[in-house]
Amino acid sequence: MAHTVCLIPGDGIGPEVAEAARAVIDAAGASIEWILLPAGAAAAEEYGEVLPAMTLDAISTHQVALKGPVTTPIGKGFASVNVQLRKKLNLYAAVRPVRSMPGVKTRYDDVELVVIRENTEGLYSGIENEITDGVVTSLKVATRKACTRIARFAFNYARERERNRVTVFHKANIMKVSDGLFLECARAVHEQEASNVTYDELIIDNGCMQLVRDPSPFDILLLENLYGDVVSDLCAGLVGGLGVVPGANIGDDCAVFEAVHGSAPDIAGKDLANPLALIMSGVMMLNHIGQIEAADRIKDAYNAVLAEGNTQERTRDIGGTGGTKAFTQALIRRIEAG
Ligand code: ATP
Repeated sequence: MAHTVCLIPGDGIGPEVAEAARAVIDAAGASIEWILLPAGAAAAEEYGEVLPAMTLDAISTHQVALKGPVTTPIGKGFASVNVQLRKKLNLYAAVRPVRSMPGVKTRYDDVELVVIRENTEGLYSGIENEITDGVVTSLKVATRKACTRIARFAFNYARERERNRVTVFHKANIMKVSDGLFLECARAVHEQEASNVTYDELIIDNGCMQLVRDPSPFDILLLENLYGDVVSDLCAGLVGGLGVVPGANIGDDCAVFEAVHGSAPDIAGKDLANPLALIMSGVMMLNHIGQIEAADRIKDAYNAVLAEGNTQERTRDIGGTGGTKAFTQALIRRIEAG
């Protein structure tokens, strides 16, 4: 039976990369019925809301979405679509696998790590106030419930995938109470539920320095919201940039798969965007819904096309001369050739 998946093209490069991902997933023989849904700046123009209720309702009902990046209009009072989605659907865990890709030359050959980011609180709670003229505060929220939940998710993820190290990046030397609680919860879950997994902690500035110097010892990185956002992009830079890093936002009921990158307005509509990050997010989605064969076909296809190194069949961000469409067609040809 076909699985219903919500497809949200989004803004900027979103429609181009979403179309590419859908074409590749269909070519791989996945059994999916797509429902096209609005979100972002385009939705605000048509529906007066960046995140229309129909979109939220459809994801709640069907539980799986593949989402392109969205832009939140600045200065119009809209809360970020991504933040709203993650909070309203309780998508508390962002999972971002970061891997060296065949044929994509970077400083390192063997990066294989996963960023797990708490998605619902921290400084992204959006509680900001102007106390008096020229003085503002921004509240960092940490709850034992959310800190424990994300720690448990990270250790479970490690166990299920036979990974053996979880490292927390933090700044508890300065934010002793909030980051202190994050650490306390991670330590408790480790001790009580996952003592066979190696656990360690690094102050985030030191952690970033160690990551760029040599990422190979790292396995799973566990971070609160803001640190996870920043470190995800840093890690993308280790393997070729934002065009090659997928992601998933997971909750107990729903999962929304999306690339780490934003709407990249500078290259939108020019056939320059690398669709691979969203295609790889689609592979994560196919694995999530149990369509493993289609997922493997896509993975084999992009690994083969990249390994061949034909510059016309890759986008410029990873050293090619081709466009979104040329790369997508190369993947489809490869899938069809078996
Ligand atoms: P937003 O505000 O939506 O996050 P942004 O432009 O600030 O958008 P990104 O969209 O993440 O941030 O883009 C950062 C840079 O990376 C841009 O120069 C963009 O062109 C490039 N980039 C992002 N995604 C891709 C992609 N899929 N293919 C090629 N280049 C990309």
